[in-house]
Amino acid sequence: MTLSYDPLKVALSDTVRLSLDSPGSGIQSATQPVHLLGTDCLIKPCVPLASLTSFRVGGPAQWYVAPKQVSELQASFDWAQTHRLPVTLLGAGSNLLISDRGLPGLVISTRRLRQSLFDLESGQVTVGAGEPLPRLAWQAAERGLQGMEWAVGIPGTVGGAIVMNAGAHGGCMADYLVNAHVLLPDGTTKILTPQDLRYRYRTSALQGKNWLVMQATFQLKSGIDPAELTRLTNQHYQHRRSTQPYHLPSCGSVFRNPNEQHKAGWLIEQAGLKGYQIGGAQIAERHANFILNCGNAMASDIFRLIHHVQQEVEQRWSLQLEPEVKILGDFQAA
Ligand SMILES: Cc1cc2nc3c(=O)[nH]c(=O)nc-3n(C[C@H](O)[C@H](O)[C@H](O)COP(=O)(O)OP(=O)(O)OC[C@H]3O[C@@H](n4cnc5c(N)ncnc54)[C@H](O)[C@@H]3O)c2cc1C
Repeated sequence: MTLSYDPLKVALSDTVRLSLDSPGSGIQSATQPVHLLGTDCLIKPCVPLASLTSFRVGGPAQWYVAPKQVSELQASFDWAQTHRLPVTLLGAGSNLLISDRGLPGLVISTRRLRQSLFDLESGQVTVGAGEPLPRLAWQAAERGLQGMEWAVGIPGTVGGAIVMNAGAHGGCMADYLVNAHVLLPDGTTKILTPQDLRYRYRTSALQGKNWLVMQATFQLKSGIDPAELTRLTNQHYQHRRSTQPYHLPSCGSVFRNPNEQHKAGWLIEQAGLKGYQIGGAQIAERHANFILNCGNAMASDIFRLIHHVQQEVEQRWSLQLEPEVKILGDFQAA
């Protein structure tokens, strides 16, 4: 099977094609969309999620909604609570491995929470959680705002990047965030600072919580030459594409680096696992911390490969590799 794939274009696309035909799933659900009272929002049943993740695997959401504004987000949480359904928050799906059996409950996508406000004098930028990070990087550079150049190759949303403390080329979200507006499942809102978020390497206090980041403000440096910033952004972009496998679906780095001395990719490479394959999932030749979907991978193939890598690395180095990718849903039979 040939794939025409570019994770950065996926993250930048405004629209997604949603089919209500589900590939076989273990989740029994209703078949009619539900209109959220007092909003323009439809909650759709049995929506395939594979095309909404950068791995391109996984089964359907029992229910799916993509709200555009706060009132719709609040109504979505309310609806899930009324029906006693679990909620999963979905950004660009670029750091997720979703089970082939799909996800029970309601998946709330942030991809329609889009708006950006650039204050060229103060250098403050306020963006919606669904804004793609690469677009923010290019737009800031074009406006002479310095700070986000490192983010150009990360195919996530602003919201997902805040939760993950995404970073590259020596920069990360924690360095530029002023505050994030979050919505709690009970409908209340909070404004959180980087201190509240207790940022560390690729982690934040928001992980494991269902607090939805709606928008965020960043402090960038204003008045810098746009041509110079665009050149630097492009340099990061080109470096990315030449050193990492962007031609096939993946989630970027699968494992966190266990410590400063031991990079996960190096450990996996030294264990002789480059090119190792289970089903349609393969350890990338170009970068051993990437698992690629070679065209026909199931989520269970990727899950088993993750487990195999952990076992091999532990056996050889007595180090435990912890997944950076968020593994969601039921993998018991994998
Ligand atoms: C080719 C490739 C290269 C990558 N390179 C890098 C890199 O250099 N550096 C790096 O750090 N990462 C990298 N990644 C991983 C990924 O892009 C980042 O982790 C990104 O920040 C995830 O954002 P997302 O919107 O896709 O989040 P998702 O994958 O959709 O979700 C990630 C987590 O955040 C939660 N979440 C998402 N949005 C919200 C929200 N608005 N509010 C609350 N919770 C939310 C989800 O529930 C989930 O727990 C790469 C991925 C790929 C595919």
